[in-house]
Amino acid sequence: MTFENTLAYAKSLDEKDPLAKYREEFNFPQVNGKQVIYFTGNSLGLQPKRAVEYVNEVMQDWGALAVEGHFYAEKPWWDYHERLSEPLSGLVGALPSEVTVMNTLTVNLHLLMMTFYRPTAEKYKIICEEKAFPSDQYMIQSQVRLHGLDPKEAIVELKKRPGEHNFRYEDIIAKIDEVGDEAALVLIGGLNYYTGQVFDMRAITAHAHQYGAKVGWDLAHAAGNVELKLHEWNVDFAAWCSYKYMNAGPGSASGCFVHERYHTDKELVRLAGWWGHNKERRFLMERKFDAIESAHGWQISNPSILSLAPYLASIEMFAEVGMEKLITKRDQITAYLEYVMEDVARAVNANYEIITPKAGKERGSQLSVFLHGKGKDLFSYLMDEGVIVDWREPNVVRIAPVPFYTSYEDIFRFGEILKKADSLFHSQEE
Ligand SMILES: *Cc1c(COP(=O)(O)O)cnc(C)c1O
Repeated sequence: MTFENTLAYAKSLDEKDPLAKYREEFNFPQVNGKQVIYFTGNSLGLQPKRAVEYVNEVMQDWGALAVEGHFYAEKPWWDYHERLSEPLSGLVGALPSEVTVMNTLTVNLHLLMMTFYRPTAEKYKIICEEKAFPSDQYMIQSQVRLHGLDPKEAIVELKKRPGEHNFRYEDIIAKIDEVGDEAALVLIGGLNYYTGQVFDMRAITAHAHQYGAKVGWDLAHAAGNVELKLHEWNVDFAAWCSYKYMNAGPGSASGCFVHERYHTDKELVRLAGWWGHNKERRFLMERKFDAIESAHGWQISNPSILSLAPYLASIEMFAEVGMEKLITKRDQITAYLEYVMEDVARAVNANYEIITPKAGKERGSQLSVFLHGKGKDLFSYLMDEGVIVDWREPNVVRIAPVPFYTSYEDIFRFGEILKKADSLFHSQEE
């Protein structure tokens, strides 16, 4: 693709963009009276206007119907979560029965590990990536301890090569071979939150299965961003939060995937609760737990409807558009962002470095940029100028254009703002 770093060119891309009209569907914050350029949809997606409507509907039903809302609300609460399975399954490449929505992400990974991490004396190791998202590290360490094991023995970290920013596929495969039959579980973030690298989930899953390990994926940054085919890839389980690319609002409910092959096995160990019990018999208050034969069998509590409502509104929009179109725009707008940043770097002799893999299957919409100069000052300058990006220690900003609501003009304007920061690109020593 050949791009131009001009306003006219950016506007011409917006005119041709079939998703451009969705920008109007979101509420944008303002800084100094001006709508921001929002690049942190990977952290907290913007508010869809439809989400406000859906939440208001629940509030009205609650006021007007109280307990009767469980059965007589416009969208009854007792099976409200089931409405999300169908639209979500299309976004993650699953059967509708393989997807449920409940709790929050780390909680769900804990619950799924109760089922899928059953260590024995010979098979007890968990393979994960080094410097995983902290919550994932704490979760894995505490699960290992729960089973009376030593994290130093049981946790095997995939490593990057010295001086490199991303994991190499062949090193991941070699590590799985090295751990071999001792591997009980492989649990990795499908898209690395820090660098934006996407793992080859299909190949890694297949490889680990050769040793009888279970494979789970934390899809926090992948869901709603990259192509997923969880069913076809034979993934055992996965979970993701809904407030990043999925735009469901702060702390909203998390999505879970459990492969079909586990649905009818009622002997599987799980932490059970009444919402996972046979739906027809749930209110008979029986003594023996009878798991629903789908991902819903992992539900525990009656869910927070106020957290499902914005999620439902948002994934209906996703389903309306489809991941394919979102991914097409994602690739183009991310490539445009990369182009503009490289163009600005040449123009003002800036020395920032994009550490996210180059185009292709190895990245989604996020570019992680290593700032060699006065990084924190540059970050503060951008925020003051109404460019909302995200800072990660020691010197990285993450910039994520979102196909639903980022325009090409946003990218051009960002480039112009960046150009004016040229004094911040070089530290004193450099
Ligand atoms: C965002 C994120 C989380 C957040 O977990 P919560 O339980 O929703 O607070 C966990 N893991 C990864 C990889 C993330 O990116």
